[in-house]
Amino acid sequence: MSKAHESDAKTKEYLERYMEGVQKRNPGEPEFVQAVYEVASSIFPYIADKPMYHEMQILERMAEPERVISFRVPWTDDKGNIRTNRGWRVQFNSAIGPYKGGIRFHPSVNQSILKFLGFEQTFKNSLTGLPMGGGKGGANFNPKGKSDNEVMRFCQSFVTELYRHIGADTDVPAGDIGVGGREIGFMFGQYKRITNEFVGVLTGKGMEFGGSKMRTEATGYGAVFFLRNMLAQHKDAIDGKKVLISGSGNVATHAAEKCLQLGATPITLSDSGGFVHCADGFTQEQVDWIKELKGARRGRISEAADEFNNVTFHEGRPWGIEADCAIPSATQNEVNAEEAAVMIKNGVMAVAEAANMPCEQGAVDSFMEAGTLFGPAKAVNAGGVGVSGLEMSQNSARISWDEDHLRKLLEDMMRDIHDSCVQYGGDGDKVNYLQGSNIAGFVKVADAMLSYGHV
Ligand code: NDP
Repeated sequence: MSKAHESDAKTKEYLERYMEGVQKRNPGEPEFVQAVYEVASSIFPYIADKPMYHEMQILERMAEPERVISFRVPWTDDKGNIRTNRGWRVQFNSAIGPYKGGIRFHPSVNQSILKFLGFEQTFKNSLTGLPMGGGKGGANFNPKGKSDNEVMRFCQSFVTELYRHIGADTDVPAGDIGVGGREIGFMFGQYKRITNEFVGVLTGKGMEFGGSKMRTEATGYGAVFFLRNMLAQHKDAIDGKKVLISGSGNVATHAAEKCLQLGATPITLSDSGGFVHCADGFTQEQVDWIKELKGARRGRISEAADEFNNVTFHEGRPWGIEADCAIPSATQNEVNAEEAAVMIKNGVMAVAEAANMPCEQGAVDSFMEAGTLFGPAKAVNAGGVGVSGLEMSQNSARISWDEDHLRKLLEDMMRDIHDSCVQYGGDGDKVNYLQGSNIAGFVKVADAMLSYGHV
């Protein structure tokens, strides 16, 4: 066996042993184990010749959250019934700054999903270049079909426990699925009321009380900037590309908007009921209508097909439609290996993950094997938390930057993240963005942990 083969075999064996341990310590948490595997399989080869990371057990410590808080959230519905949900905050890693990551309200929320999201967030936040650690939180509460008053009472109860664990220099949550401006307003109001402090403890706030311009747009816009950078790196352009987008929430609609601004054509959007297809490409007016439908009106995406003649509704997911690029922007594990194979066959040449872990491992493997340009979530959607970090900076300095300045900062940040991926994932003519983003995110956090000793 050659030396290179011997060392590859050893690395594989270390990785397998490490994953056995992760699996054993986290039973019943498949999403979390999946996320750790995805990162560890990039990092093990990188640290094979860097013994200090092994000696200091960096990867073992990184896969263990610093703290998981789980709590009861009792609230009263409009009929006077007492209801009980479970809330969590996973404070994953604070090596490079206060914990930072969204709060998700969705019936599917559980500890495994929040641990996977908190773990991923640690690397993503590191990639932004800003001083933010990783965390994530949420509740198995379904805001759908609830009145504003019910949502307010739920948010107040949630914060009545959460407030003691967060703070502007400790842990700064943001929104995520099911948590938008309305929920952040209710939570910030309750935090302020309990602590009697007006500080930047949450991001995604309204403009009247410390929010940042460009935060709403940042994740979707940032994802499309990243896609444009990937294409440019490979001597191609986004202009004229047909793009499949899933989801129809904050990320999806802003991704569609930025595609339009950069000359690309978004042809699908979706929700949990199915997808809508517009072969001509959605116009800005249609995207605005869908924003309103899925935002204030809380409607179903199928209604877009009733409203517009050139839009059709279909059950299932949009991945069977022919296009050049795809931006999955709904939720985790929404693209499987079979769907990836169809996309590759149909000529999709670039995939940018705007949602968190939307592609199953089998789908990721298929894209990598086929040579599809693949932008992983932690790099592609980092613009959201990046502008959240800028909201924290503005709150601390008690200033407010204008939109043009923030747009420029977002665009520069996405370019820097892209270039870091190239630095660590450069592979001849084709950049391995998965490897590049994992290693670039890892190095900063790992080196901070090395400096602290055994903590
Ligand atoms: P929203 O709540 O605004 O929208 C979520 C969208 O996904 C809705 O269209 C929803 O449809 C759809 N969806 C949810 N669950 C499913 C499912 N099981 N199957 C199909 N569709 C589904 O969330 P965001 O747009 O904010 O977030 C989308 C993704 O982006 C998430 O993975 C989130 O973690 C990630 N993200 C978001 C950031 C942000 O700044 N908002 C930052 C970084 C990542 P329906 O209305 O039917 O539920």
